[in-house]
Amino acid sequence: MKAFQYLRPSKVQDAIRAVGSDPGARFIAGGTNLIDLMKRGIVSPDKLVDINHLPLKKISYQSGRLKIGALALNSEVAAHPAVLQKQPLLAQALHSGASGQLRNMATMGGNALQRTRCPYFYDTAFPCNKRKPGSGCAAVEGINRMHSIFGVEKANATQSCIAVHPSDMSVALAALDAEVIIQGQGGERRIAFTDLHRLPGNQPELDTTLERNELITGFEIPDNDFGMHAHYLKVRDRASFAFAIVSVAAALDVKEGKINAARLAMGGVAHKPWRLFEAERHLLGKPVSEALFRQAAALGMRDAVSFGQNDYKLRMAPNAVVQALLHAAAIE
Ligand SMILES: Cc1cc2nc3c(=O)[nH]c(=O)nc-3n(C[C@H](O)[C@H](O)[C@H](O)COP(=O)(O)OP(=O)(O)OC[C@H]3O[C@@H](n4cnc5c(N)ncnc54)[C@H](O)[C@@H]3O)c2cc1C
Repeated sequence: MKAFQYLRPSKVQDAIRAVGSDPGARFIAGGTNLIDLMKRGIVSPDKLVDINHLPLKKISYQSGRLKIGALALNSEVAAHPAVLQKQPLLAQALHSGASGQLRNMATMGGNALQRTRCPYFYDTAFPCNKRKPGSGCAAVEGINRMHSIFGVEKANATQSCIAVHPSDMSVALAALDAEVIIQGQGGERRIAFTDLHRLPGNQPELDTTLERNELITGFEIPDNDFGMHAHYLKVRDRASFAFAIVSVAAALDVKEGKINAARLAMGGVAHKPWRLFEAERHLLGKPVSEALFRQAAALGMRDAVSFGQNDYKLRMAPNAVVQALLHAAAIE
């Protein structure tokens, strides 16, 4: 591993200044992803800015909003009474990720910003536009059973990227209309969580819309009426310690048998958590039924494409949406 400078600021502005415009500087939180990437030579920072001493660990509920600091640990958030009471979908998604040991190290900010698990991103013997822009995408003609079915044009795929974003937590935050609070040199800004990650387009090396020295300081989730009518379904190769092949975050507000509000997002299917806005709209005002859920799932799949080994996702994804909605509606 390349030698690097190590800094441990205790103030947010000092951390941001320490990264500054230095292209070789990186924030480090739990380190469970970044250190792996450094060991494999995928990322070689010359300066690490350790943010663990910043005051960003608080979890609280105020004025109809759940507020979670960027350094709150995945395990703490998943077990916090306010999260379990107000946003059980987030707790479910966090519990489904990684392992107990990893969740005790992994932070909220780091989880959202973890890099893809595409094997070609990790294997420097292969071309990868995300790791080395312009080199090509080995996954398009290669082992792509875990890869995207949304958000990439088939004709342009070799110039782009078919890797998926691996975070479970992010799928729940996308579904729950969470906001991301970001601090940069110019001050604070807020964006919708659905605008944090980007589609690959012709710049697949960029995972997010963040500037290099911007720090995520926290996340906020507004109240909703989903209550326990929320379900995170994760389909994976093993029952634990495995990334999603397909996952679905589903939440329903059902009043007198009719759907008042619906939220649906998928993981394991795109370069970013994939929100199914059209399917959500289709559910509104209609009585709960499996037939309705199948229609919504079919609408959600309209723009899906596949690349050979991941053809099965075209059937698995809509079935997962239906199952998640049935669980959320508690009529399974
Ligand atoms: C074997 C294994 C299995 C796993 N399985 C799953 C799984 O099933 N589901 C799942 O969701 N995850 C899974 N993970 C991923 C794990 O959840 C992530 O590694 C972890 O969440 C990253 O958090 P961290 O705090 O360690 O991030 P770090 O490794 O410290 O950082 C990750 C990235 O985020 C940046 N960063 C961190 N915090 C901030 C911030 N506040 N602002 C700006 N930039 C920041 C860093 O610069 C770095 O680029 C798995 C990991 C491993 C190793």
